[in-house]
Parts: sequence; structure tokens; C-alpha cells
Amino acid sequence: MRNVAIIGSGPAGYTAAIYVARAGLKPVLFTSAVTVGGELMNTTDVENFPGFPDGILGPDLMQKFQDQAVRFGTELVFDDVESVELEGDIKRIHTAYEGDYEALAVILATGSAYRRLGVPGEDRLSGRGISWCATCDGAFFREQHIAVIGGGDSAMEEALFLTRFADRVTIIHRSANFRASQIMLDRARSNEKIEWLTDAKVLEYLGETSLEGLRLENTQTGEQFDREFTGTFVAIGHDPRTELFSDQLDLTETGVVAVEGRSSRTSLPGVFAAGDVLDDQYRQAITAAGSGTVAALDVEEYLGTLDRELLARVAEDASGTTDEATTEPASEPVISLNPIALNPSSFADK
Ligand code: NDP
Repeated sequence: MRNVAIIGSGPAGYTAAIYVARAGLKPVLFTSAVTVGGELMNTTDVENFPGFPDGILGPDLMQKFQDQAVRFGTELVFDDVESVELEGDIKRIHTAYEGDYEALAVILATGSAYRRLGVPGEDRLSGRGISWCATCDGAFFREQHIAVIGGGDSAMEEALFLTRFADRVTIIHRSANFRASQIMLDRARSNEKIEWLTDAKVLEYLGETSLEGLRLENTQTGEQFDREFTGTFVAIGHDPRTELFSDQLDLTETGVVAVEGRSSRTSLPGVFAAGDVLDDQYRQAITAAGSGTVAALDVEEYLGTLDRELLARVAEDASGTTDEATTEPASEPVISLNPIALNPSSFADK
């Protein structure tokens, strides 16, 4: 039995852990078994995280988050949470390999997952020319012509990164209005390897065993046409990862976890949310970190309202546990947070 269980190892989860651990509450944090560190593990340079005027690599930043959380006594469990029971005073968390845990409060910081286009061929050709992560898979596309789908900052970032490997990169966007920030748009526009195809939407991926091209439709005229590409990177945003608990608590119309006002309190007492899982608007590493702080402070307040008997039970359990701050990784050893080092065949796996 623990005071606080945190699910997720992105900026929100680790920041919540830092605060909760510094309050002496010894949180346990479930990192997931393979992709430890969340979405920033798929990023190269992070230039807008305050405190790093020269920028920092996403995996390096997440390593620092983790080190700071562990330094204050966070117990890390390198395993996937398979199911949760969030109702009642005692919350139960079932993991794939490390067994079951109980906690008085839970912080859900499960982040978001890549959005798929959902057009024919996507399942068949995933990992066979279609990817969602340029830093993981870009090197497989040396000297090729690649399409990047999307008009936000992710699409610009992916396209720019891919110019290191590809001969040509075509950004395909369904309108002529880009959501990307001006600075990212300007960088992409000034890169000679990047071409633009606007007012075009993907109808289908072409190819049987590997990607050969895209069937597209002009969104203004309805005209259909095919283009040859040997690689396509989809960068059209993310969806909140709520599948573990969506049947147990309230979600908003946009699918994120519903919380009370500016707090992190969900519809269930003792259950708090932080980061992209409750944010359908800002979705920045720094806002996720701030949201982790809010959840930690809300948890502290909540624990203060609980029955002394319950708290005594946690203290009793804690006195019988080991002083080790981390458990061993569930399956493969996690030595580095670098996604390529962790999963060298990530392209083939997708
Ligand atoms: P965004 O939501 O900002 O953009 C998604 C893009 O994908 C939009 O252009 C959208 O088009 C398009 N899109 C969505 N669904 C579809 C679809 N089904 N078919 C075709 N196109 C589609 O997501 P991002 O992942 O780009 O960015 C998320 C957040 O992360 C943002 O706040 C961004 O600023 C931030 N970010 C910052 C980075 C940085 O600063 N280095 C890097 C990456 C992300 P439409 O506009 O028509 O809806």
C-alpha cells in the first residue's frame, strides 16, 4: 500500500513525483515497460523549455526529470499498467509483470498517443513505409522521397528532421492554413529540400507489402490523384490516452479527462489527472510539468482529509518495504532513455 501512485513518465508524471516525493510521501511511479519518458523521447532539440537557453535533447531532458524524481525517493516501476480499479478509498493498480499495487491516491499522467489517419492501407503498411516518429525511423529513409502529413508544429519538426536523410520531403496539408508557429513555418519554408502540397487530403495508402505512394484528393476541387512516396510520416496530433480508465471516470466531449475547474480533481475522489491526458489545448512539456505540480498539491490536500487509520496502514506497509528507490526493469534492462537505444527495431515494430 502506497500513499500515491503515479501512472506515466512524461513531464507531468515526473514533476508530480518530484513534488509528492519532496513532501515525504514516497510515491510509486509506473513508467511503462518500453517507452520510458513519454513523448519527448521522440523529439530531438527542445528549444522552448525554460532553463536551457542552448536547447536540450528531449531524451536528455527526460533523464533529468527522472533523476530528480528518484533523488527525492520516488520508487520507479518499469512496467506497463494493465488495469486499474479507481473507485473506493483504496485504489488498485495491476501491472503486467510487477504484480499489484494499492494506493490511497492516483495521479493519471498517461499523456497522449499519435493520431492515425484511419484510411485504407494504414494498418497493412505501418512499419512498412508509414511511421509516426521521424527521430526513431528517419534513418531508414535515406535518399528517398518522403511525405509528411499535417500542418502543425509536429509536421514542421518531422519534415525538418527528415531532410537530414531524405532527398525530398513533401509536406501535405488538408488546407492552406497552418497551425504551426511562425518560427517553425519559416524554418521549413527556407529549407530547399521541403516541398508543399496544400489543400490535399490522403484517401488511401498505396502498396501491398511496402508503401509505394498516396492516393490524394484536392479538397477544393474534389479531384483525385496519386503521388509516389516510399515513406510517409503522419504528424496530425495526438489523442489522450484514457483507455485504461475511460469507463471509470468522466471525460469531456473532446475525450480528455474532465477535472474540476483549474484543479486536477477528476470525477472520482482520490483520482487526479495531469498533463496531456486532461489538456486538449496547450500540450506543451512545460504546461504538462505545471499540471503535474497542480496534481501533486491536490493530492497532498486530499491525503490530509483521509482517515488516520488508512494513513497508518500505509506507514505500516512502508516500514516493511525495501529502501531501494527503484525496482528492476520488468523485461529488458533500461540503461538509457534514448528511444533508439531502447528499441533499435522500432520501425519494424510499428
Ligand atoms: P496540432 O494539433 O497543432 O496540429 C495537427 C495538424 O494535423 C493540423 O494541421 C491539423 O489540420 C492536422 N490534422 C489533424 N487531423 C487530421 C486528419 N485527420 N487528416 C489530416 N490532417 C489532420 O498538433 P501537433 O502535434 O503538431 O502539435 C501539438 C502541440 O505540440 C502544439 O501545441 C504544438 O505547438 C506543440 N509542438 C511544439 C513543438 C516545438 O515547439 N518544437 C514541436 C511539436 C509540437 P487542421 O489545422 O486542418 O485541423
